[in-house]
Amino acid sequence: MRTADVIIIGAGPAGLFTAIHCKSLKVIVLEKNAAAGNKLLISGTGRCNLTHDCILSDFFDHYGANHRFLKTALHGFTNFDLIRFFNGHGLETVVDKNGKVFPASQKASDVLQVLINVCNQNKVEIASSQHIEEILKTETGFEVKTSSGIFYSRFLVITTGGMSYPATGSTGDGYHFAKLLGHSIVPPKPSLSPVFIREYTMASISGVSVQNKAVYLYRGDKKISEHRGDIGFTHKGLSGPGILDFSRHILSGDILKVNFIDLKADDFRNELIKASEKEGRTAIQTYLKKFDLPRSLLFLILKSINIEPETRIAEITKIQRNQLVSVFCEFPFTVEKVGGFNMAMVTAGGVNLDEVNFKTMESKLVPGLYFAGEVLDIDGDTGGYNLQAAFSMGYLVGKGLGRMGD
Ligand SMILES: Cc1cc2nc3c(=O)[nH]c(=O)nc-3n(C[C@H](O)[C@H](O)[C@H](O)COP(=O)(O)OP(=O)(O)OC[C@H]3O[C@@H](n4cnc5c(N)ncnc54)[C@H](O)[C@@H]3O)c2cc1C
Repeated sequence: MRTADVIIIGAGPAGLFTAIHCKSLKVIVLEKNAAAGNKLLISGTGRCNLTHDCILSDFFDHYGANHRFLKTALHGFTNFDLIRFFNGHGLETVVDKNGKVFPASQKASDVLQVLINVCNQNKVEIASSQHIEEILKTETGFEVKTSSGIFYSRFLVITTGGMSYPATGSTGDGYHFAKLLGHSIVPPKPSLSPVFIREYTMASISGVSVQNKAVYLYRGDKKISEHRGDIGFTHKGLSGPGILDFSRHILSGDILKVNFIDLKADDFRNELIKASEKEGRTAIQTYLKKFDLPRSLLFLILKSINIEPETRIAEITKIQRNQLVSVFCEFPFTVEKVGGFNMAMVTAGGVNLDEVNFKTMESKLVPGLYFAGEVLDIDGDTGGYNLQAAFSMGYLVGKGLGRMGD
């Protein structure tokens, strides 16, 4: 039997950061893959958007209804603390125009390397290729049986992530372990996922995107929510931060209406009427240039209502004017489905937060058991919010455990 003060299951950002901060305690991280941090390596399309450059209070708008759970973790280890941590270990960071923080090298592998180096300096053991067969709570701690033997520890931390991009190793095992130890699980569902659109007509402009547009979500005839952000067109539907961040609210059969021109319907109608009086000889495509939409998109929108781009504004009938208002102010996309776990960047749902103490991340049901990261029922928007949450939670657990070893 191998013994340690702390066993951590899962060598992702949350697990490694917990391990790093356990101070002088003996820590073993059990990882099922052959190497640590597979998901971290693909984060930010390989560039790793590790956090966001904004005031701390802004963070709380980016974790949905459960944001309060992160209060202690984010205050205890902020975005600026995280940047200082990486800078202090030789990794320079840069901020892009949207406030996203990346390593200056633009390499997620450099972020992972810092974490592994600090683990090595702190004598953390990362035991890879471990298949966990059983976890038992004993009177004095935990017994974890793996394919390579039995590990014993006083404290157990579950940092197995969610179940999105399962090929990276995050396959939802943590939910199973938590359940075995008495916890309940809020049903997991894909989040930060692209949406597939029924009878999609925009495939030919796949790769094109528009910035900061309003999207309205309709269920039946009722508008139930709205959101604003960048929207990208894919081969089969919509993506980009404005859709990904909204996806946790979207169901198949919903209708997404996009306002491409930032004008209310009545205002646009009035503008068109005025334009027909003042510049009636102008072609509609020329007039619409002021909205700064990609030309290919503009043509597809006009095509959807059978209006030729060269049509002069004065020739547009009242019916056509109403159609123009409708497609530019509320272009409808019917949702076929939201992308599944294989394309969702994070998992919504997970270990029930009511059963975990947000001040320490310790289980309220099983003393000595802790959770951190995406395995919990908390998920953030795109922009570095998920990694910051994983790091902040890991720090909170690690620091707390480290103090017990003093
Ligand atoms: C394509 C993609 C891009 C992303 N980009 C960003 C980004 O730029 N910025 C951002 O903030 N977030 C991003 N995210 C989200 C972010 O990567 C995750 O929220 C974050 O990695 C969660 O960290 P974690 O440590 O909780 O879990 P994970 O990173 O999922 O790590 C969990 C670890 O546990 C291991 N494990 C699982 N089960 C077991 C088991 N039974 N035994 C042992 N080990 C186990 C896994 O192999 C894995 O190594 C992205 C996600 C994806 C999929």
